[in-house]
Amino acid sequence: MNLSDQELDRYARHIVLPQVGGVGQRKLKAARIAIIGAGGIGSAVLPALAGVGIGSLTIIDDDVVELANLHRQPLFRERDAGYSKADLALQFVQRLNRFVKARPIQERIGSDNAERLLTGHDLVIDGSDNFATRLAVSDTCVELGVPLLSAAAVQFQGQVGLFRAQPCYRCFVGDAFDAEDCDNCAELGVLGALTGTVGNFAALLAINFIVGIGDDPTGKLHLFDGEALSWREIRIPPEPGCRACGSA
Ligand SMILES: [Zn+2]
Repeated sequence: MNLSDQELDRYARHIVLPQVGGVGQRKLKAARIAIIGAGGIGSAVLPALAGVGIGSLTIIDDDVVELANLHRQPLFRERDAGYSKADLALQFVQRLNRFVKARPIQERIGSDNAERLLTGHDLVIDGSDNFATRLAVSDTCVELGVPLLSAAAVQFQGQVGLFRAQPCYRCFVGDAFDAEDCDNCAELGVLGALTGTVGNFAALLAINFIVGIGDDPTGKLHLFDGEALSWREIRIPPEPGCRACGSA
């Protein structure tokens, strides 16, 4: 996958990095990433990934913009209230980088359609706001063999983890959270810039993973405390009896 002269100019500050170079930039261009949720996490992930020239972005969100989203979702403006987040995110990406192929999907992802929606991607970034969706997405990623980058922010806490085969996200949270009504930030609240911090960290991890920068990033969970303003890292042990990846 070659880079045009315009692309070489555009990504010059990236290509000059020895860890990226032309080879890394071509890997980014070849990458097909699905992003679940164009909300707070998506508002950080999409501009970052479109900016660095990820070749193909699938944006999955069935929601419309509400005024209560705007304190943490800078993809949107007041006049966008009532319009599809996936469509608005598409317009944002198109205006930012013409070399990115973006596709909006206005569907709520769940165990019934996740396989159809996620097949054919090199990485799935889940920025959805509830455990039921995250677990359905994780189980499907395990089945399809697609790495999953899970990112979440609620109240003052953020977490980001990259899962491939084993351990999976279900190893981390267990089976108690499949009900639709678990957590979401509508009820619990979320600090304004927290989603941006966590989303940009997730985007950075995605870029490093695709280019191959740094040590193997899988199986670790990065936790951010928005009150203490600090990150820490824990290793997720594989759960031998995990019903998603246990027999992998
Ligand atoms: Zn598992």
